[in-house]
Order: sequence, then structure tokens, then C-alpha cells
Amino acid sequence: MNRVINFSAGPSALPLEVLQQAKNEFMDYQGRGFGIMEISHRSSFFDEVYNEVVADVKQLYALDDEYEVLLIQGGASLGFAMVGLNYGHLGRALYADTGVWTQKAIKEAGILGLDYEVVASSKDSNYDYIPEFSFSDGAYGYICSNNTIYGTQYHALPASLAPLIIDASSDVLSKPIDFKGSNIGLLFAGAQKNAGIAGVCLNIIKKELLEKAAKNLPTMLSYETYAKNQSMFNTPPTFAIYMLGLVLKWIKKLGGLSAIKARNEQKAELLYSAIDESEGFYKGHAKAKSRSLMNVSFNIPASKDLELKFWQEAAERGMLGLKGHKHIGGIRASIYNAIELSEVQKLAQYMKEFASKNA
Ligand code: PMP
Repeated sequence: MNRVINFSAGPSALPLEVLQQAKNEFMDYQGRGFGIMEISHRSSFFDEVYNEVVADVKQLYALDDEYEVLLIQGGASLGFAMVGLNYGHLGRALYADTGVWTQKAIKEAGILGLDYEVVASSKDSNYDYIPEFSFSDGAYGYICSNNTIYGTQYHALPASLAPLIIDASSDVLSKPIDFKGSNIGLLFAGAQKNAGIAGVCLNIIKKELLEKAAKNLPTMLSYETYAKNQSMFNTPPTFAIYMLGLVLKWIKKLGGLSAIKARNEQKAELLYSAIDESEGFYKGHAKAKSRSLMNVSFNIPASKDLELKFWQEAAERGMLGLKGHKHIGGIRASIYNAIELSEVQKLAQYMKEFASKNA
């Protein structure tokens, strides 16, 4: 088996151990004679999988009974609209604009005709930093904790009088979060980067906020429907939930979110050092204080041809997924949880060699 090093932004590399377990259980889940995706979501077998996912998310984030875990289809993109639909009636919706993914959420607020305000933005410098601001009182204060395209990340949550709503699609389960000490109302994240495969969106919602959801919404667009029916009002994406479960067990085995954070810091440091020590050959997109531990976006200012050569020669060395997003171009290395330190070492080494050969 010849696996590449996969730096894709999402869907992304999965831990090898998780893939192996899924493969082993594909046709015979725990010796029961069927694959997990072949049985009813109403069966005790699937109940077990679902309950463990909820328990493991709660354990990893140290959540108490104030929070509920909901698993929703439709991706984080459905979340952009659900947030506004469920909570827009509570007052003015406040948004911080840190790039394409918050712009899309803000657009939904417009479509829904909400009273909303963008209280901070880093658009003025092509989203290369996280602005400093706080949210006053309102329906909710909305942020995207890690901006996948630009490689910027909040390293502390903004102060907020309104319940915070966080799109954590590209940094969920990558570090501990102080739910108790912050005013988080809802955190949601598509699973396909740090937490498994596409098809399921992990939602952690405070019961107090859950209870304030708008009534008379279309059934599948109401958070209450998911809360009242164990996220199984209809058939849930059973295989994606099973995969999420395997990833959660793998994170626990590695030592939980503090251990994962230390590992992620070590990996990011290698790449940022390679950029900073390149004497201007590479230019990181994000300002130093806002640098992401998950997505490292950079350019080769000397020429676009060199960027093309960089991807090509990386591919020849078995490193894929390094092409930057069309909004900023250049190079992006996504180094989510599943990427190993040794794999990032290989990329950092390649960056150094490429710079000295082509400077
Ligand atoms: N938010 C962020 C930060 C993302 O990176 C993405 C996808 N790359 C999304 C939302 C959209 O997620 P989905 O495709 O699951 O709707």
C-alpha cells in the first residue's frame, strides 16, 4: 500500500488506525455479521454507536449537562441558515467577518431578512488577521474560529454579552475549549476535516439557548427536532457517525485534546519556521498573531511559476493537496489532527530544499 501524505483542506486525511479499523469492520461490525451502515438506526447496535459518540464528545470537551450534542446532516453550510432561522428572532444578530465562510453565514442572515450587523471585519487586508472586538448584547455573536482559506485562527474567544455561535469546522477537536468559562451557545463543525468524513455536522448547543429556538420552523431546520429525537427524527448518516466515533476514540487514545493541541502546535511551528527562516522566499498569508495551527497558507512572491513547480515537485515526493484556495492562491498545507509530525517534518524539509535551490 502506497499512501500519499495528504495535506488537503477537506475532506482530509484520516488517521491510518481509524481507516484500518473501519476496513476490518466494514462487512462484519464487531463480529455481528453485518456492516454498521447496513442496519437500522433504530437498532440497539446503532444506539450504542450514537451514545458513545455523544459521551466521548462530552468527555473530550469536559461538557456538563448544560450542553447537548446534536448530529445534523447538511454540512456546516446548512448551519449558516439554521443559526439565523432558530435565533434571529431574539434581537440583533452580530457577526465578525473573517473571510469567505463568515461571508456565507452573513449572506444567509440577509436572505432571512434578519436584523443583523457586522461588528468587525478584516476584509481591508484580505483577511490576514483576526480583528479585535467584543460582542455587545444581541441575539447572538457569530464567529468562525479557524478560517480555512486564509490560515487565520482565534487564539482566544472574543468577550460577548450575547451567546457565542462558533463555526469550528476546521479546528474542532484540535484543542481544549473552555465552555464553562465562555459564553458559548452553539459550536458547530462539519466532520470532514478533523473529525471524520463528510455527511455529519457536530453541534454542541447550550440547553438554555436550545430552549429559546423559534417555534413553527420546518421540522428538519429546527434544532429542537434533533434534541428531542436523539438526532434521529429521520435516518441519520449512520456511517459518518460511526467514523466520527472511531476518530473520537483515536483522540482519546492519544491523550485527549490537550495532547492533540501540543502535537498540533509542534507541527505548525515546523512550517512557520520554514517560512520565517526562508529570507522572504516564502511569505505567510496570516499575520503572526493570527496564525492557524490547522491551515498554513503562504505564497512564493517571486513567481507564480515557482508555486506551480512547488506543487509538482511535492507531488513527485508523495505530498498532495498543497494548492492554495482560489481566493488567495499560492500554497496551503492543512495539517489537521490526523497528519503526523513526521509527515510535516518531510514537508518542512522539502520547503527548505526548494527555497535554497530556487532562491
Ligand atoms: N466553515 C468552514 C470554516 C469551512 O472550512 C467549510 C468547508 N470548507 C465550511 C464551513 C462549509 O462546510 P460544509 O461543506 O460541510 O458545508
